[in-house]
This record gives sequence, C-alpha cells and structure tokens, in this order.
Amino acid sequence: MTDAEIREYLTGKNDGELFATADRVRREVFNTDVYLRGIIEFSNHCKQDCLYCGLRRNNRSIVRYRLCMDEILECAGDIARSGISTIVLQTGEDPFYSDAAIADIISAIKSRIDIAITLSLGEREKGSYKLWRDAGADRYLIRLESFNEKSYSQARPGTNRQERLNCLETLRDLDYEVGSGIMIGLPGDSIDDVITAIRKLTVMHLHMIGMGPFVAHNQTPFAGESNGNVDMVLRAYALMRILNPMANIPSTSAMESARPGGRMRGLQVGANVIMPSFTPKRVKELYNIYPGKNVQQDIDEDGLQSVLTMIEKAGYNVSWARGDSPLKANEKCKM
Ligand code: SAH
Ligand code: SF4
Repeated sequence: MTDAEIREYLTGKNDGELFATADRVRREVFNTDVYLRGIIEFSNHCKQDCLYCGLRRNNRSIVRYRLCMDEILECAGDIARSGISTIVLQTGEDPFYSDAAIADIISAIKSRIDIAITLSLGEREKGSYKLWRDAGADRYLIRLESFNEKSYSQARPGTNRQERLNCLETLRDLDYEVGSGIMIGLPGDSIDDVITAIRKLTVMHLHMIGMGPFVAHNQTPFAGESNGNVDMVLRAYALMRILNPMANIPSTSAMESARPGGRMRGLQVGANVIMPSFTPKRVKELYNIYPGKNVQQDIDEDGLQSVLTMIEKAGYNVSWARGDSPLKANEKCKM
C-alpha cells in the first residue's frame, strides 16, 4: 500500500472496502474470536507530567490512591474466577513500587494462578524489565504516543522519544511480547504523522498494537483542545489489521469515551481484543486518564457482563483463551 492510498483510506474515501477487507483478514487469523484482558489499575500516582493525561504530576485536583498486594491479588482472583486468562497491570509511573515490589506482585499472582501477565507501567531501566520478566511477566505495553518529534516533546516534557523507543527494543530483547501504538489527534499532530505511524509501527512487527483517540481532559493543559477523530481511529484499526494480520489489536475504552458505541465498532473493523476493567469500585473513578474513563456511568459499560454482551452484539464470540500472539509463535518456529 502506498502512502497516497493510506491517506485516501484515512480520509474516508472508501470505508466500505477498507472495513470489509480488514474484517476478512481478522477472520482468516482469529476467526470470530475476541480475546479478553482483565485490567487492574493499581496506582494513579505519576511522576511524569504528560500534558494530555489526567494523572499527570501537576494535576492537584485528583485524589491519589495505591492498591496493596492483598487488594491486587483479590482483583487478580476476580479476573481468574471470571474465566479470563490475561491480567494487565497498569499504573502511572509510580516509583513508590520498587522493582522488587513489582516483581513480588508478579510472582505472587503467578504462583497462585495460571494466567498471562501484561505490564503497562511506563519507562524503567533494563534491569527492572529483566527482573519482572524473570518473575513471570509475559507481555509489555508501551505506546510511542506520536511519531511527530515536536508534538511528542511538547506533550511529554522532560522525556525523550528515543528513550521510549529504546525501552521497547529492550523489552523485545528480553523476549516479552511487545505492544505499542499512538494516540490519534494529539495536539500538533497531522494526518502525515498518522501515516508515518502506520508505516513505522508496521515495520516494528509488534505483537500488540494499541491505538485510541486523544480525549481532552479538563484538568490538563490540553483542556479545550479537540478530541481525536473516532472515524480516523477506526480506519487506522482497519489499516493496521490489513498490514499486521497477526497482531493483537484492542478496541480501546478511549473509543467509548469519545463516542458511545465506538469500541464495539472497533471490533467490526479489525480489532480483536477488549480490556474490561477489574479495578476495585472504590478507586475506579480515580483512574481518570481521560474524561469518561472509569467514571460512574461508565463503570457498568466497562464491566465484564456488558463487555460480553457487546461482543455478541457486534457479531463475534468471546474467547477465554490466553490469546498469545500468533506472531510470537511464528518467530519461535523460525528459530
Ligand atoms: N503510565 C503508563 C501507562 C498508563 S497511561 C504510560 O504512560 O505508558 C496509558 C495510555 O493512556 C498512554 O499510553 C496514552 O496513550 C493513553 N492516554 C493518556 N492520556 C490520554 C488522553 N487524554 N486521551 C487518550 N488517551 C490517553
Ligand atoms: Fe503518567 Fe502515563 Fe499519564 Fe504520562 S500518560 S502522565 S506517564 S500515567
């Protein structure tokens, strides 16, 4: 596919053909299966100050929380009892949890439950990632957020895009299944940056590709900016599915925040993963990365039962399998 063709698709020149092709490709690899990942958001503290995110250090308007080991294990038990075979552990970048503490959480879960563990804890040193891999972590999600250097450094002050890229490569070297992606519509980004992202993410041969619309949060410097275009995200899901047939691609909850029904639509245009939240009710609303994320009316939306109903309604089947990356299995065969 040429850049000109990608641009035409992204601007909606032929949604019918694009979406039908993406769904055909997803069915060839995954049939109608939708994998579930139960997510535990165990801390909303963050040392970073990303201009787009409600958890940023300088947001003094939110109440901060941390879960202790027992609470995390309880959530992990809930996920396992529901039949889900992957746990995602996500937080702000919170140095309160030492490398060893995170490793303890991973091994405590692994010694009790036979389940895949995905981490999404931001940037750390190679030694930390290695310790966690050795403790039993299977996968790691770290989005590159934007392929535009300028908007990246504006949006993530004090950080460096190359370092984030290095984290991703380190994780791959440590034999994690790796996932990355972008927000679509980040202030300063243009359609050219989305085309670049589609190209560059594809040559990275990622096991997981996570994308969602930027959603403006009123307690951040990006309050008042326009949200990302949900239709463009749907087209990006479809393009990424066609270019990366074997990748696990979630239809993210930001889709639902930006447009009710957006997440279900994502499943019909190439996405094959849904991540219901198992964060305890008493803190769930405080994990407010973007508006609508885990807020009261959304709690049920994001709960397991409504996610199961949504998958059936979209015309697909719930899979309780681990949903390891078929790409990773292929890499092993070639070794
Ligand atoms: N602290 C970790 C993980 C939590 S943030 C990290 O930053 O990697 C998880 C993802 O939420 C980020 O990668 C970002 O893409 C997304 N996100 C944050 N703020 C957002 C917003 N305002 N709109 C949409 N997505 C957002
Ligand atoms: Fe922290 Fe992640 Fe939010 Fe940035 S996006 S402020 S690193 S939680």
